[in-house]
Amino acid sequence: MSPRQKRIEDFRKKDDLIVITGGGGFIAGALVGYFRDKGFSRIRAIDKKPLPDWYQRLPGVENLCLDLSDRDNCVRACEGAVEVYNLAADMGGMGFIERFRVECFRSVLINTHMIEAAYRAGADRYFFSSSACAYNTDLQKDADSRALKESDAYPAMAERGYGWEKLLSEMVCQEYWAERGLRTFIARFHNVYGPNGTWDGGREKAPAALCRKVIEARDKGIPTVELWGDGRQTRSFMFIDDCVNGIDMIMHCDELVATPINLGSHELVSIDHLLGLIEETAGLKVNRTYDVGAPKGVGGRNSDNTMIKRVLGWEPSTPLREGLAKTYGWIEEQYNLRKAGKRTVS
Ligand code: NAD
Repeated sequence: MSPRQKRIEDFRKKDDLIVITGGGGFIAGALVGYFRDKGFSRIRAIDKKPLPDWYQRLPGVENLCLDLSDRDNCVRACEGAVEVYNLAADMGGMGFIERFRVECFRSVLINTHMIEAAYRAGADRYFFSSSACAYNTDLQKDADSRALKESDAYPAMAERGYGWEKLLSEMVCQEYWAERGLRTFIARFHNVYGPNGTWDGGREKAPAALCRKVIEARDKGIPTVELWGDGRQTRSFMFIDDCVNGIDMIMHCDELVATPINLGSHELVSIDHLLGLIEETAGLKVNRTYDVGAPKGVGGRNSDNTMIKRVLGWEPSTPLREGLAKTYGWIEEQYNLRKAGKRTVS
């Protein structure tokens, strides 16, 4: 904890039951590990994926395979819960969310049933993982668009499908606090990356996809990498360790009850620059081709961290270069395992 970081009152007991949905996926899997390492002894992780397909399956954790778009399964998931972290969603990078809007919309069922089940189970706190895709896309047309602050979600013009689902579910969380007194917390994540995430198969995001392409380029001896778009679109990327730390701090800060807040890095890079950093990590220069017809999302998006710095005295700060080195090393391992015919994540 940095000296400026504010201490947050924490009344949790180590044997309080923590429920984490999406536990077979990237961020929730890391969150399970984070709480386990902090000594919490009762963690229930839930995902609709069959258990052998989970990215991480940690010992000492109650791991359940349940489809949380079903109400009864949500009731089962929330039995005895003190805190509920809802990170389950049908999601992926731009290639997925631009093509599968119906699937993205249907995640509304998960939050709708989970929050009601958490409320009825008497949970103390409820966390919802929202996204920067909830912001008004008109403010993100250019590569040098200004960083997005929390008030920029309205007037609303969210990303079709995925972004609107997040915006609606945010509002549901706010009303559960206003009408029913359930303490809800809402973080708008900006691109999260790191080890144990999706790196292949169509749902991966730019950092993982580009790491894999560079590894493939070296392995196959064809040093050419295709980028989606013209390479000039800009984004910020948050390392997974910052994300799970931020989730914990936001969930336990009463000033943030029912108040959406950015959880993202403020280090803005173009996709071209991102590839440059991966090339440095790999020690390999590649030729670039650009598929301007491929899904590329908004022109520019960054996280304005004024609010999180004011309220928490903290912001995600892992340098992209550092986080990418860890991510690249992990994806390279996965790539080699797959080549050797072994089981891998995603
Ligand atoms: P992920 O795809 O790795 O994990 C999501 C998990 O939810 C998956 O394992 C999936 O099987 C599970 N799931 C989907 N539908 C389900 C259902 N009906 N019942 C039970 N489980 C179900 O994605 P992630 O990157 O870990 O994202 C976690 C959360 O953070 C999501 O809500 C996502 O929208 C949000 N988010 C992520 C990012 C990012 O950059 N990764 C950015 C913004 C927001």
